[in-house]
Amino acid sequence: MKFKPEVYRIPDERMKSFIDPEEIWGYINSAKPTKERVRQIIAKSLDKQRLNLEETAILVNTTDPELVDEILQGARTLKEKVYGNRIVLFAPLYIGNKCTNNCKYCGFRASNKDAVRKTLGDDEIVKEVEALEENGQKRLILVYGEHQNYSPEFIAHTVKLVYGVKKNNGEIRRVNINAAPLDIEGFRIVKESGIGTYQVFQETYHPEAYETYHPSGKKRDYDWRLTSLDRAQEAGLDDVGIGALFGLYDWRFDVLSLVRHTNHLEACYNVGPHTISFPRIKSASGLDINDKYFVSDEDFVKLVAILRLAVPYTGMILTAREPIEIRRQVIQFGVSQIDGGTKLELGSYSDAKNDNQNLNREQFQINDNRSLGEIIDELIENDYIPSFCTACYRLGRTGEHFMEFSVPGFIKRYCTPNALLTLTEYLVDYGTPIQKEKGFKLIEKNLHQLNGHQDAVEVRKRIDKIIAGERDLYF
Ligand code: SAM
Ligand code: SF4
Repeated sequence: MKFKPEVYRIPDERMKSFIDPEEIWGYINSAKPTKERVRQIIAKSLDKQRLNLEETAILVNTTDPELVDEILQGARTLKEKVYGNRIVLFAPLYIGNKCTNNCKYCGFRASNKDAVRKTLGDDEIVKEVEALEENGQKRLILVYGEHQNYSPEFIAHTVKLVYGVKKNNGEIRRVNINAAPLDIEGFRIVKESGIGTYQVFQETYHPEAYETYHPSGKKRDYDWRLTSLDRAQEAGLDDVGIGALFGLYDWRFDVLSLVRHTNHLEACYNVGPHTISFPRIKSASGLDINDKYFVSDEDFVKLVAILRLAVPYTGMILTAREPIEIRRQVIQFGVSQIDGGTKLELGSYSDAKNDNQNLNREQFQINDNRSLGEIIDELIENDYIPSFCTACYRLGRTGEHFMEFSVPGFIKRYCTPNALLTLTEYLVDYGTPIQKEKGFKLIEKNLHQLNGHQDAVEVRKRIDKIIAGERDLYF
């Protein structure tokens, strides 16, 4: 008889769903936020300990304005004390919007006949990347619909193409991906092209709600999506990003589930997600959902602060989906990365006529239309250091957020100097005279605050080398 290995294979438990809705609702329904308990939990997080589900449930149930304010202040303190004042900048680049799924919230869904479909060709990708580089971008996230044309080989090809584009002093030093879940072999192929983070958002972790929003296509398979980043880990791709699309289900459930997902990755692979994203539903061509679960601004700010406290060493990404005022507010509570100069219409970075106003060409509406330069102006004005740093990933220092968080002095030794060096590059190559004046003042001020963790003389030397024409210096 022929040997059939699959008969004897032990089922891989890691590829099964790890979300138990009853368990999560159990935590939420039994959580009683007293003053004393909420304060203990905030203190635990400030003591650099991760929160468990029971503790997170207490925070999501907190409505007393005084305590909510303490949660916000706690998140602000954690951000200031632990992460400092850097904000990493990136831009999304949509490569193709063909899609075989029918997500009810998305303008790219297959049944939306109004959507203008496009996949950028190689020449168009090069033009887009050149335009992005001319603006000063160094970090991109490439975005794809779910379609047979967007195979792992295709994704890997586009990543390598992007890395190869160099316009004047411009280059892209980190390419992240937001695309459909792959199988293990697929993740391996994409990893080999040299990507940074692979993001897959679960949208909502509630299985029944998930089913209603995903009526057809491969994305209908909740478990396949939920376990996608386990397959990434199996493929050796350990830099992954998770997220939930807020507005699909009770936000408290999805916050706890993001924490549960983090626990799962840590328990199974010893490494949590690199980043958490928390997009809120925005207008899209033919948007087909009711507003029952839409998240108010107030709850949104609160949920970001709770996530900051619950998973203190995970990067948090806030995108231009949100309007300027919300971005300003939320950035204080623990966001570590934002996009700048974002355009969602395919091919629009190299087309000056394009103004983010045509929903049939975009996945959803963005609400912060400022250029990268304007965002940088505001960051500098508010004492944040705009950073394009890619050092850890290129030096193989993985788990950088964990190190930032847990290794004393790590930020002042590496992150701040690298932020200052990449800001210098930006100012020299792309800055306006006023930006240069304000930017170099900010650099000077931060050099004085390194407190001996990094040799300020050495940082200054490298800044001078950049001014003299050298590029890509980092610690
Ligand atoms: N097709 C891939 C997928 O579904 O995973 C790529 C993701 S899609 C291009 C990027 C993310 O945008 C989705 O995962 C979803 O969370 C978010 N998104 C979709 N429609 C949205 C809307 N109307 N408002 C805000 N975010 C939306
Ligand atoms: Fe396709 Fe992604 Fe949009 Fe769903 S969210 S329709 S999978 S592009």
